[in-house]
Amino acid sequence: MAHLLELKDIALNYHTLKDETKAIENISLFVDSKEFISIVGPSGCGKTTLLSIIAGILSPSTGTILLDGSPLSENKNKIGYMFQRDHLFEWRTVLENVKLGLEITHNKDPANKEYLDELIEKYGLKDFVNKYPHHLSGGMRQRVALIRTLVLRPEILLLDEPFGALDYQTRKTVIQDVSSIIAREEKTSILVTHDLGEAVSLSDRIIVLSKRPSIVKATFKTNLRKIASIEERKRTDEYKITVDKIWEELQD
Ligand code: ADP
Ligand code: MG
Repeated sequence: MAHLLELKDIALNYHTLKDETKAIENISLFVDSKEFISIVGPSGCGKTTLLSIIAGILSPSTGTILLDGSPLSENKNKIGYMFQRDHLFEWRTVLENVKLGLEITHNKDPANKEYLDELIEKYGLKDFVNKYPHHLSGGMRQRVALIRTLVLRPEILLLDEPFGALDYQTRKTVIQDVSSIIAREEKTSILVTHDLGEAVSLSDRIIVLSKRPSIVKATFKTNLRKIASIEERKRTDEYKITVDKIWEELQD
C-alpha cells in the first residue's frame, strides 16, 4: 500500500550571497497514516530544515515529496505545524486564538465550527475561552496551540521541539497531555527533538539523522505506544534498550 507521506532523495542547499551550505545530503523516508515518528540528530544537522520542506515552506534542491500519492505542492494546507514557542497572540482571547487558523484559511464551513466546539469541550478549554493567553500556564498554552492546529484537520502534524521551552515539571505533564490528544485524534505526527527519551517514549518509529549534510543513519521501531502512560513506557526494557542503541548511533 502507498504511504501517506513519502520523501525520495531529498537534498537541500542554503544559498547566501557569499557561500552555500549543504544542509541535507540525501534523505528518503516514509510515514504511514496514524504513525508517530520522531526525528533525532545532532544540533544543526537539518531537522528544522526537513520539517520546513515537509510543511511546504522550503522547496528541496532535488528530490520528490508525495502526500497521498500526489506532489506536496498540491496539498499544502494538509500540514499542521507546532513550534517550540506557542505563538499565541496575547491580545486575542483563547477562543480568538483557536479560531485564527480557520479565519486565515477562510474556512467558514459549519462542520469546522462544530469540530472546534467539540475540541474545546473535549479538551477542557471551555472555562478558558474568554481568557487571554497570559492568564494561562505554559502547559495550557501549549494545549491551546495544539487545538488551534488540530481544528484545521491537518493530515500530518509537525512538531518542532514543542516542549523545549518548558521547565522540567511542566514538560512531563504537557508531553503526556499532547501525546494523549494526538493518540485520541489519531493524528499522524512527526516530532523533531534532541531529547532521546522523549523521542523513544512517544514514537512508533525513530529516525536518526547523521551530522550535516544529513542522511538517514538508522531507524528504530518500538511497540511502546500501546502503553497509555508515558512514565510507564519509560520503565520498560524496550525503552531503555532503544534509547541506548540510538545514543550509540549518534556517537560518531
Ligand atoms: P537543526 O534543526 O537540526 O538544528 P537546521 O535545519 O536549523 O538544523 O539547520 C541546518 C543547517 O543549515 C545549519 O548548519 C544551519 O546553520 C543552516 N541554516 C539553517 N537555516 C539557514 C538559512 N536560512 N540560511 C543559511 N543556512 C541556514
Ligand atoms: Mg531546529
